[in-house]
Amino acid sequence: MGKLIKEFKEFAMKGNVVDLAIGVVIGGAFGAIVTSVVEDLITPIIGAIFGQPDFSAITLGPIQLGNFINAVVNFLIIAVCLFAVVKAINKMKKPEAPAKKPRLCPFCKSEIADDATRCPHCTSQLK
Ligand SMILES: [Zn+2]
Repeated sequence: MGKLIKEFKEFAMKGNVVDLAIGVVIGGAFGAIVTSVVEDLITPIIGAIFGQPDFSAITLGPIQLGNFINAVVNFLIIAVCLFAVVKAINKMKKPEAPAKKPRLCPFCKSEIADDATRCPHCTSQLK
């Protein structure tokens, strides 16, 4: 039993589990922001332009088709918003140039300028 608890502790304390937990919490908080943006900002704007997009009154006999359409429309709005956010974030993330290996003097192994003709450390003539 003690071994099981130890194993569980190791599992729960693994970095990626903690990272995942943080991701879930932040994802939940972020989801609330996205929901608020859609419900409080975007839906009223769309409503102002196209009229309130409420399909919940549409029914097909006992089938609440309108609620389903509302859910689909909400999903599409959220998907488009997230797409725009991800696109903006990707644009901000500039591709970093890979770290260049510094040129080394073949005689003293000191770091030197790429176009140096003489080593500033050991004064050796460089090719
Ligand atoms: Zn040198």
